[in-house]
Amino acid sequence: MSLDLQGIGMTSPRTRKRMVQRLAEQGITDPKVLDVMRHTPRHVFMDEALASRAYEDTALPIGFNQTISQPYIVARMTELLMGSGRLSKVLEIGTGCGYQTAILAQLVDHVYSVERILSLQKKAKDILWNLKFKNISYLYGDGNLGWADYAPFDGILVAAAAPEVPEPLLQQLAVGGVLVMPVGENGRSQTLQRITRTGVNYKIEYLESVSFVPFLPGKE
Ligand code: SAH
Repeated sequence: MSLDLQGIGMTSPRTRKRMVQRLAEQGITDPKVLDVMRHTPRHVFMDEALASRAYEDTALPIGFNQTISQPYIVARMTELLMGSGRLSKVLEIGTGCGYQTAILAQLVDHVYSVERILSLQKKAKDILWNLKFKNISYLYGDGNLGWADYAPFDGILVAAAAPEVPEPLLQQLAVGGVLVMPVGENGRSQTLQRITRTGVNYKIEYLESVSFVPFLPGKE
């Protein structure tokens, strides 16, 4: 597979720069996050027919009833996760098209990414391989269970909404680690939560309201 990394017209570096300017206007302040998003081609993660819309601030379909998260949400969740400095091991639930994975992989030492739809995982893996990422491990599985083999994680980012945070994810968070996840019923209001493990206890911060696809049980 060859990727048009550079991009032209609506997929050009100039369009990407404008996207990052908008993110800054929307309140994203972490310079590292903005920088990585300025340099990461988003259009290569989408079907060609949608590539020209890759830098709009909107969620777009990636097949299988799933969507790529809008750039603002990717930036915001990454910023919330990174709050306390460089992270070593991060667990991502919901690889989807792999764009969020690519952003994380440039900011942390290693990303462990779980996806329950095999075809999506395969496509994301191919693209990330072509982009030469070597610090990502993939699991085809149910994110409700986390990835116990590599726990504990300094950060956990969940890209799908559930009524509550699955217990195994809380257990797999390192002390001092941070979990970012949309919590709420599908179709109702969901709130982005940041949960910090302080020892045996967890501190919960309720952030903005968001709209995510549902966190589904089992593998497809
Ligand atoms: N960050 C991704 C978001 C994709 S949407 C992107 O920008 O492309 C959410 C993803 O979570 C979907 O790919 C969906 O299949 C996956 N997902 C939902 N429930 C899951 C579960 N229990 N385990 C693993 N992945 C899950």
